[in-house]
Amino acid sequence: MSDCSYTRVTFFSGENVPLEMHKARMVQRVHLIPIKERFEVLNRTGNNTFLLPNRDVFLDMLTDSGVNAMSEAQYAAMLMADDSYAGSETFYRLEKTIRDFFGLEYFLPAHQGRACENILASTYVTPQTPTVITNYHFTTTKAHIMLRGGQVLEAISDAGLMTESDLPFKGNYDLDKFDALVKQAGGPAKIAFVRIEAGTNLIGGQPVSLDNMRQVSAYCRKNGLRLVYDASLLADNLFFIKTREKECQNRPLADLVKEIASLMDIIYFSGRKLGCARGGGICAANKVEYLRLRDLVPLYEGFLTYGGMSVREMEAMAVGIRETLDIHNISQTPLFVEALGKELEALNVPVVTPYGGLGCHVDASRFVPHIPQVEYPAAALCSAIYLVSGVRGMERGTLSESRNPDGSEHLSNMELVRLAIPKRVFTHSQIKFAADRIGWLYRNRSLIGGLTFEDEPKTLRFFLGRLKPIGDWQERLMAKYLGDMPSGL
Ligand SMILES: *Cc1c(COP(=O)(O)O)cnc(C)c1O
Repeated sequence: MSDCSYTRVTFFSGENVPLEMHKARMVQRVHLIPIKERFEVLNRTGNNTFLLPNRDVFLDMLTDSGVNAMSEAQYAAMLMADDSYAGSETFYRLEKTIRDFFGLEYFLPAHQGRACENILASTYVTPQTPTVITNYHFTTTKAHIMLRGGQVLEAISDAGLMTESDLPFKGNYDLDKFDALVKQAGGPAKIAFVRIEAGTNLIGGQPVSLDNMRQVSAYCRKNGLRLVYDASLLADNLFFIKTREKECQNRPLADLVKEIASLMDIIYFSGRKLGCARGGGICAANKVEYLRLRDLVPLYEGFLTYGGMSVREMEAMAVGIRETLDIHNISQTPLFVEALGKELEALNVPVVTPYGGLGCHVDASRFVPHIPQVEYPAAALCSAIYLVSGVRGMERGTLSESRNPDGSEHLSNMELVRLAIPKRVFTHSQIKFAADRIGWLYRNRSLIGGLTFEDEPKTLRFFLGRLKPIGDWQERLMAKYLGDMPSGL
């Protein structure tokens, strides 16, 4: 597989265009319904983009989870799957692939990323070891730790929380903060594990540098702390290490992955992201950890040779993980995120910089500063974006947090709308369309108002909660849109 020193193809004209390094041989029809229908759908589905039916969505930028385009080699592998409850050849192929990829000896299958988090939290988060330290939390990670009475402390560098920056690795640990948090937790003996999240999801898909991982790992080894790596977003992080970290530019991707893995005690991942299929798994460097985690797999997931995954998905995941070592595969999301970011910035739309992986992140705090955090500005912006474009994004702000024990809102550090760019799914013109409509919305941003809950679930409320607009701002926005774009499309 190609592993070159160049990471993008440039245009002689100097124009900055992300080039698709694949061709479409099977396509899916998408539908752009007019704004009046979008308005009805939005309010029928509680102004929550998680509840929108796909048939009413033009560009589905909700997530990269389980919706990346698979390669022909992945589909081909699915036909060769060995379907058996125990001892499946498919599992052994997957196990070998993962062993070769990370260089860690032990592998446990699980049905998706959060299932791995359930197993890790069940095993390690106890009344004696209630604390997990991480660069930044992820929604499902935190929920599993809290469910077991634990707490999550964050050692992200201050720069990580600034939406405008030119620092290449905003997902990095602040090592002084980390040391202070270890003391605050009561010392290493009180800590369930230390976690590094690749491509830090909730702060805009921001990467962690290899050098920073080395330092966190050295600290953990010196202090007897267990280091866990969430590799769900490894593909993007790997691209940024290769392109932004000088010493890594001439090193093969396979080498970089092995070095990262050698710094960790445990690695887990969502196979819905890493490997572009569906599933997940946990890798352990040593047998003691493996045995502690192993017993929960048959209990929660399935027998050890499938762990809740279909054999077809396991075959596709194995191929997809090997394809992560192709620079032209892993470059596609970051280059398209950058293209969308540049289009939006040219229209003055505030976005998180530097551009990260996963998706382009629109900064609602700067887009709709007139909406207070308790009226969910990012969720309001997300519903407005759907209304004017048919593009489905995801709120990543206060709505994605849980309330404090006293019922008050836990205000998020950032109010973002994430426009995910699943791998190889969208064309450059679709990206330009999304930017065009969001640019229009920005010019009319004063019309956007807040949202309030109609129905608020107790855990992970962002998935299923229903909201309604405060006032008639959506009607007014729609009227303005129809004035400018009479077709309503
Ligand atoms: C998506 C994700 C998870 C959870 O994975 P699922 O397969 O959706 O359960 C965990 N960590 C990170 C960083 C993720 O992006």
